[in-house]
Amino acid sequence: MSKPWFSRSPEDTLSELRSTPAGLSAQEVQQRMEQYGPNKLQEGKRKSVAVLFLEQFKDLLVIILLIAAVISALTENVESTIVIFAVLILNAVLGTVQYLKAEKSLESLKAMSSPTAKVLRGGVRVEVPSAEVVPGDIVLLEAGDLVVADGRIIENFSLKVNESSLTGESEGVEKDAAPIDREQVALGDQKNMVFSGSLVTYGRATVAVTATGMNTELGKIAALMNQTQQRKTPLQKSLDDFSGKLAVVIMAICAVVFALSIFRSHMGVLDSLMFAVALAVAAIPEALSSIVTIVLAMGTQKMAKQNAIMKDLKAVESLGAVSVICSDKTGTLTQNRMTVQKIYADGKLLEGKDLELANTPQRLLLKIGLLASDATYDPADGSSIGDPTEVALLQLANAFDVEEELYRQYHPRLRELAFDSDRKLMSTLHQLDGVPTLLTKGAIDVLLGRSTKLLTSEGPVPMTEERRAEIMAVNEQLSNEGLRVLAFAQKEMDGIRDLTLEDENDYTFVGLVSMIDPPRPESIQAVADAKTGGIRTIMITGDHKVTASAIARQIGIFQEGDTALSGVDLDAMSDEELDQILPHVSVYARVSPEHKIRIVSAWQRRGCIVSMTGDGVNDAPALKKADIGVAMGITGTEVSKDAASMILADDNFATIVRAVVNGRSVYANIKNAIQFLLSGNMSAILCVVYASVMGLSVPFAPVHLLFINLLTDSLPAIAIGMEPARKGLLRHKPRDPKEPILDRGLLQRIFGQGLLIAVPVMAAFYLGLSYGGPAAASTMAFATLTLARLFHGFNCRGEESIFRLGFRSNPFSLAAFGGGVLLLLAVLFIPGLNTLFQATALDMTHLLEILGLAFLPTLIIQIFKLIRGR
Ligand code: ATP
Repeated sequence: MSKPWFSRSPEDTLSELRSTPAGLSAQEVQQRMEQYGPNKLQEGKRKSVAVLFLEQFKDLLVIILLIAAVISALTENVESTIVIFAVLILNAVLGTVQYLKAEKSLESLKAMSSPTAKVLRGGVRVEVPSAEVVPGDIVLLEAGDLVVADGRIIENFSLKVNESSLTGESEGVEKDAAPIDREQVALGDQKNMVFSGSLVTYGRATVAVTATGMNTELGKIAALMNQTQQRKTPLQKSLDDFSGKLAVVIMAICAVVFALSIFRSHMGVLDSLMFAVALAVAAIPEALSSIVTIVLAMGTQKMAKQNAIMKDLKAVESLGAVSVICSDKTGTLTQNRMTVQKIYADGKLLEGKDLELANTPQRLLLKIGLLASDATYDPADGSSIGDPTEVALLQLANAFDVEEELYRQYHPRLRELAFDSDRKLMSTLHQLDGVPTLLTKGAIDVLLGRSTKLLTSEGPVPMTEERRAEIMAVNEQLSNEGLRVLAFAQKEMDGIRDLTLEDENDYTFVGLVSMIDPPRPESIQAVADAKTGGIRTIMITGDHKVTASAIARQIGIFQEGDTALSGVDLDAMSDEELDQILPHVSVYARVSPEHKIRIVSAWQRRGCIVSMTGDGVNDAPALKKADIGVAMGITGTEVSKDAASMILADDNFATIVRAVVNGRSVYANIKNAIQFLLSGNMSAILCVVYASVMGLSVPFAPVHLLFINLLTDSLPAIAIGMEPARKGLLRHKPRDPKEPILDRGLLQRIFGQGLLIAVPVMAAFYLGLSYGGPAAASTMAFATLTLARLFHGFNCRGEESIFRLGFRSNPFSLAAFGGGVLLLLAVLFIPGLNTLFQATALDMTHLLEILGLAFLPTLIIQIFKLIRGR
C-alpha cells in the first residue's frame, strides 16, 4: 500500500479497496473470505493434541505411579507394570479428550455470543456475524455497536467512539471523514479511522473496512502478546489447591505407613514401598479436576439450550449464589407490546377509540404521534418496525384511517432531536399550516415542567398551577392503573434552523396518551420462584414511579411495606441513607445508568451477589460492576453484550431465574460429585491405614485402586454431575459466596461415609483371609470396595433418599452403575484380565457375601436419609 488509509480521501479509499458506497457483491465477499480468512483473532497458539496428551503426565500423582510401575518391574511383577502403564495411557487419553471437549463447548458458546455487524452488500443492509466481515465491506456503525474491524470513515454523522481497549484512553474520541495530510499519525489521532475492539458511544458513520482479523491494530497487539488464557474458575483453582495440599498430607502418611509396614510386618523395602504407593494412589482424587470441568461445561450447554448464554465458566459458579436480581421492566418483565388506552386532551379523559378529530387538541395528539415518531406500521399484515411505544401511536392513527406514509410525506421532517432515555423526550420540526412547529413527545414530568401554555379547543391558555395540578392528577390516576403515560406538546418556532436542547422549552401542552404494556405471564411465576429461593427481585425502569409500582405490584415484586424511589430521590440521598432504606425499595423509577451502578454497589456492600440487566451503551459499566451482568440478546446493543457475563437469548426475566436455578444445580452437582469421589477415597485410605496398623497384608494392589479411581468411580461421578435441576433447589437460601466448597458438613460426610464403606470392606478382607489367605482377602476387599462405591453413587445424587429422587430421573446413574458392575465382573472373571488384577477364584457364596457387604453402607445411608426426610 503506497499511502496510509488516513491520508486518503473516502473515494480513493473505496477505489483502493475495489469497493463502492453500496458495498461488495456476494461473489466478491466470497472471494475475499477465501483470501483473508474469517475476521477473528487467534487466541494464542492452540496446543496440539500431542502436547495436550504429554501434559497429562506432568502431574505429581502420575509421577508417583510411574515410580510404582518401575518398582513393580523391579520386583518382577510385570503384570502390574503393564496394567499401570495401560491405565496411565488411558487416563491421559481421557484427560485429553475431556480438555478438547471443554474447549469445544466454550467455543460454541462464544460463537453464540459473538457480535454481529451491519453491512451494506450489493446495496442491501444485512446483519452478519463479525467473523464474516471482509476488507472492502461497507459497515454501518451506530451508537451501541462494537467496531469489529479496522476501517476508514466514508460518511460521518457525529460519530464518537471509545478506543480504550487500544489506546487506554477512556474518554470518547470524536471522529470525522476528512483526510489527514501527513504520513505519520499516532493511532489515537487518526480521526478518520475506526479500530476493531472500540465501542461506538454516540452518532453514526459509514465505514469501509481496511483490515480484518489478525491484520487489525488489535490483532497486531494480540499477536505480540500471543498468550493462552488462564481459564480456570475460582472453584477449579481452589480444588487444585486442595489437591496440592492433599498430596503433601498423603506423602506424610505414606512415609508413616511405609515405616509401619517395614517394622511391624517385616516386609521387604520394595513391598513396603508398594504399600505406600497403594496409599498414595488410593488417596489422590485423580478424576476430580476433569470431572469438575466436565460438569461446568455440561451446565453451560444446558443453560444455552434454555436461552441463557453464559460467556465464561466462572459466571456459572457465581450464578448459583445470586441473591438479588435487578431487572429492567419494559420487555424483560413486561411484553413490550404497547396498546393505547385512555387519552386526555382539552380537559377530557376518554378512551382512545372515542377521540374526536374535530377537536383541535385531540387531533393534534394524533398528529404528533405520527410525525414525532420513527416507527412504521403496516396495517395490512400487522407488522411493525421500531419502538413499541411509537408503534402503539401509529396503530391508534390507523384506527382513524390516517395513512401514515402519506401524512408523513405531506409534513416532511425538517430537523429532529432524537429520543434518548436520559432526556426522555423526542422532538421533530415540521411546517404545520405554513408555521414551523416543534412537535415533542416524552415523559410527563419533564414536559409538563417546560410548558407555559395549555392548548384547549378555544386556543392556548396560560398554564396555571391549577391546570398543572389537574393534569398531574390525571397522570396519577392513569399511572396507578399501571399505564405508561406519554405527554405531548408543541411550540411555534422562529424559523427553520438547526435545533438545540435549549429549544425544548416554553411549550404549549397538548395532552396525554396512556398505554398498557402487560406483564409477561411467566414473570409472575418467576418472581414467586425467586422469592421462594431467597432471591430478591428489584425493578429498575426509566418509566414513571407510579406506573412502575403498579406493574411491580401486579407481578409480585412490590409488596406490603415496600417503597419505590425515583432517580431524583436517589440523587438526594447519601450512600448511608440508601443503605438504610435499601431492603425496602423494590422499584427504582426514572433512573439513569449511573443510578444502576449505585444500586448494585449498595447491595454488594450488604454482601449480596447481584445480577443486573441492561441493554444500552451506558449500561455497560453497571453490567461490569454487577456480579452477573445480564444483556438482552434481541434488543441489547453489542456494547452491553460485550460487558455482560450472561446473554438472554429471549430477553425474558424468567430465563434469569431459570439460569440461577441451573447455576445452583451445577454447583450442588459438583459438590455431590466431590463428596462421592472423596468419600470413596477416604474408605480406601482407612482400609490401607488400618491394615498397616494391624500388621495385615496390603488389602489392595495399586492396580485395584487405579481401576476404581479412574474407571469405576468416574462413571457415577459424571452421572452425579448430570443430575437434573430440581425445584427443591429453590427451597434453600442462596449459597454464601464466601463459604468454601469443602465446608465442615461436607468434610464430615466424606469421613463418615468413608468409614461406613471401609468397615464392610475390611470384613470382606477378613472373610477372604479366613478361607484363602492374603490373595483371596485382597480379592474380596477389592471387589467389595468397588461395588460399595458403585452403590454409593446413588447416595451422592442428592440430599434426599433415592426413593424421593427416583431412579428414572437420572438414567445416567443407572448406566454408570451397570457399566461399573460389568467392568468389575470382567476383571474378576475374564481369564488373563483376572491374572493382571491378581484376582482369585470366587464362588457363588463369596459373590453373595460381596454383594451383601457392599450394599450395607448404602442401605444404612438410605435409611438414615429416609428417617431425616420425615
Ligand atoms: P425500561 O423499563 O427498560 O427502563 P422504559 O421504556 O421505561 O424501559 P426508557 O426507554 O428509558 O425506559 O423511557 C423512559 C421514558 O421516556 C418513558 O417512561 C417515556 O415517558 C419516555 N419515552 C419512552 N419512549 C419514548 C419515545 N419513543 N419518545 C418519547 N418519549 C419516550
